[in-house]
Amino acid sequence: MKRTIVLKAEENLRKRHQKLNENLEKNLTLLRSDDAFQDLNFKLKKLMIENAKSEAYGEKADKKSEKTLREKLEKYLAEKNIDLSISYACPKCKDALYIDGKMCACLKKEISNLLLSESNFGELFSFEEARKTAPKEYQKLYDKMKEWCHGDFKKNLIFISGEVGVGKTYLTKAIASELIENGRIVKLVTAFQMSRDFKKYRFEYDEEILDKYVTCEFLFIDDLGTETIYKGITVELLFHVINERKMKKLCTIITSNLTLSEISDRYDERIFSRIVDRSTSIAINLSGKDLRLNSTTAH
Ligand SMILES: [Zn+2]
Repeated sequence: MKRTIVLKAEENLRKRHQKLNENLEKNLTLLRSDDAFQDLNFKLKKLMIENAKSEAYGEKADKKSEKTLREKLEKYLAEKNIDLSISYACPKCKDALYIDGKMCACLKKEISNLLLSESNFGELFSFEEARKTAPKEYQKLYDKMKEWCHGDFKKNLIFISGEVGVGKTYLTKAIASELIENGRIVKLVTAFQMSRDFKKYRFEYDEEILDKYVTCEFLFIDDLGTETIYKGITVELLFHVINERKMKKLCTIITSNLTLSEISDRYDERIFSRIVDRSTSIAINLSGKDLRLNSTTAH
């Protein structure tokens, strides 16, 4: 994961949080020059510290005065119609963005959105939206794929084939959207872009170029078969990416107009065998009218 993307996502969310609490900031500024408030607040803080000390030494704390002061302060704020409570965009992490050192779903979602805007995929839509235009033969498959998005990802390579216009993109976008909603980090790329990146990597040896293909949680490769094949580069690096991801148990979703046998002709046996490996792959063939799940499909 590119550090710059994570930083950008963090910054976006912090800004959003700030905006959400602009009113709070305004109120706090106002109260800074409010002597009556400052006086009450100072007394309360002082008493709270004294009480904490007393409790630490096992002495009796003046909790009653503390309560009275607190109520006075609350009443004062209520009369002035000032709300000092903090709003959180994400109640889960209280906008800390990390929980126990791990990224919260809100941060992952923002990262995916940034990655999405880097790709040429345009807007995503949910399964529910995709369903509206899909033939009714697809509904079962949609259910299955939605289920997959919430599963254990033992099947970590999904190959969706079919001719132009059978709904591959719809299905892909619905899967990506569902995963993002679940706080997964998703990277979408066209095979065309990918092949260009591979070529760039071969000439520049910039590890970061290849890194994003090998490390992101979910990689979507759209339209495999439409890219330019650079001799000694495209097929080799495609195998490297697919293989590395399989070993790391990261999920790869590939769409293609090519059939499985055309894949084996265009690329090589090793790529083909990774795709048809029943234990870790699902191959789906969309044919528009009669939806056939390929025999390698897991049920
Ligand atoms: Zn969060």
